[in-house]
Amino acid sequence: MTAAATILLTPDVEVAIIGAGFAGIGAGMRMRQNAIDSFVILERAADVGGTWRDNTYPGIAVDIPSFTYSFSFEPNPEWSRVFAPGQELKKYADDLTIKHALRKHIRFNTWVEKAVFDASSHLWNLHLKNGRRLSARYIINATGGLIEPKLPDLKGLADFKGKVMHTARWDHNYDLKGKRVAIIGTGATSVQLVPSLAGNVERMDVYQRTPIWILPKPDREIPRWMQRIFKRLPLTQSSLRLLTTLYSETVMVVALIYFEQLPNLVKSAERAALEHLQKQVDNPELREKLTPKYGFGCKRPSFSNEYWKSFNRSNVHLITDPIASVTENSVITKAGTEREVDVIICATGFKVFERGNLPSYELIGLNGHELGEFWDKHRYQAYEGISVPNFPNLFLIPGPYAVSGSSWFFMIEHQTTHALRCIVEARKRSATYVEVRQQANDRYFENILERQKHTVFYNNDCATSNSYYFNKHGDAPFLRPASSLEVWWKSQNFPLKDYIFKTTQYEIRAY
Ligand SMILES: Cc1cc2nc3c(=O)[nH]c(=O)nc-3n(C[C@H](O)[C@H](O)[C@H](O)COP(=O)(O)OP(=O)(O)OC[C@H]3O[C@@H](n4cnc5c(N)ncnc54)[C@H](O)[C@@H]3O)c2cc1C
Repeated sequence: MTAAATILLTPDVEVAIIGAGFAGIGAGMRMRQNAIDSFVILERAADVGGTWRDNTYPGIAVDIPSFTYSFSFEPNPEWSRVFAPGQELKKYADDLTIKHALRKHIRFNTWVEKAVFDASSHLWNLHLKNGRRLSARYIINATGGLIEPKLPDLKGLADFKGKVMHTARWDHNYDLKGKRVAIIGTGATSVQLVPSLAGNVERMDVYQRTPIWILPKPDREIPRWMQRIFKRLPLTQSSLRLLTTLYSETVMVVALIYFEQLPNLVKSAERAALEHLQKQVDNPELREKLTPKYGFGCKRPSFSNEYWKSFNRSNVHLITDPIASVTENSVITKAGTEREVDVIICATGFKVFERGNLPSYELIGLNGHELGEFWDKHRYQAYEGISVPNFPNLFLIPGPYAVSGSSWFFMIEHQTTHALRCIVEARKRSATYVEVRQQANDRYFENILERQKHTVFYNNDCATSNSYYFNKHGDAPFLRPASSLEVWWKSQNFPLKDYIFKTTQYEIRAY
């Protein structure tokens, strides 16, 4: 034994999970199921739920049926609708943290500012905003993809004297009744917000840069008697989950990634959406303005039976002329029309694959490599959407090319399976270091790029879609071009030899 081997080194925790949204909660539940008790969940806010804690705008609901948009091993028989409202998702997050005894593992108001890997002890040292430090063998990064609101870059917005709100920072004390409202943006959030507010405000100007594809929403209330059946006979709910998952998988995954092989799937979705529009909007000129000029799937489509109809109302105006500037009390478009408003609501989405957002803090791996900088220079990439060479003992839920579109929960479950296979294997080998091999990463990345060429993203006139799926490199790293079945299989069977396992020279005390 060398002199160094006599040094005893015990990290504060074995696993530091960063973020207490559903990804962090999912990772925490799986830690407990695998008898890993030495873990913390670090959350910068004062509550759990991430997206569903921060987004409380009127009309918020899931856009994937709730039977599918939930953990497979934690069905919730209490969903009140097929597409549950946002508050029920927040409650689902609260209930899971109690049921799985996660609260004692969560440290609220704990903002991770930086994490540095130490190559000799094989530990991550986390620097927290409160000045404290924490060491961990592994990091599971669960800081979300859509958490940092993006405000529009509009000349004069700072001088506006009325109210300005982003949809992810809703001010419930501000009464919109009888107000003149400008809504900027017509993405998935606007689709829910516009019909919820239209009947309550004096006037609503909806500023549209890019129209959105919308399919009819097969939503309905779930009566109490059905909830009771789900509770007593969980198989009934699992069968519905299978159906809604097949539906989501067909529309949101298969149609998009197998576009070259099955173009008719996308074409029939486009036809269904256009028929829907025809039925919902009376005025042909308005219909034309609301018709997307890019292909279905280039940006996230939505489901609604109310959004398009709202534009038939006399107090709702669709404005396609781009905004030139904002004054103290109005919005002026490029054509020179000035419209006075009391409030500007920015339904302008979030930062996605860009530096400073994913990861949301500085992550320094081997030889001073910083993850955000690496991706910025060398394109977003991660083996199986979870591990990056030079960043040992780090698992990203999600990393680039991780999300197979049918539901975020599906991604969480399979990414945690992957991370746990690595951690459990390291424990078996008494290893303290798990790093994906460069070759394995390159193989995965090349394969993804090749497959991406055949998806809807590069074959269906996406140029004008202004889609958050695309980043500055022209890549679409948000979605993994693979079916859910393949992702499930890979998470359980990826070759462990794709990873390097090593043991530190320091002796480790039990966690
Ligand atoms: C309005 C909205 C609706 C959506 N609807 C759907 C849907 O219907 N279907 C679907 O499949 N997907 C949907 N999504 C996408 C996705 O499913 C959700 O965003 C999901 O809840 C993400 O969960 P998460 O845990 O990965 O991330 P988040 O919910 O974003 O949670 C991340 C957590 O990490 C914390 N955090 C971040 N940085 C740090 C740091 N440095 N230190 C400590 N803590 C940190 C944040 O405070 C947050 O609590 C939606 C997204 C949004 C924004």
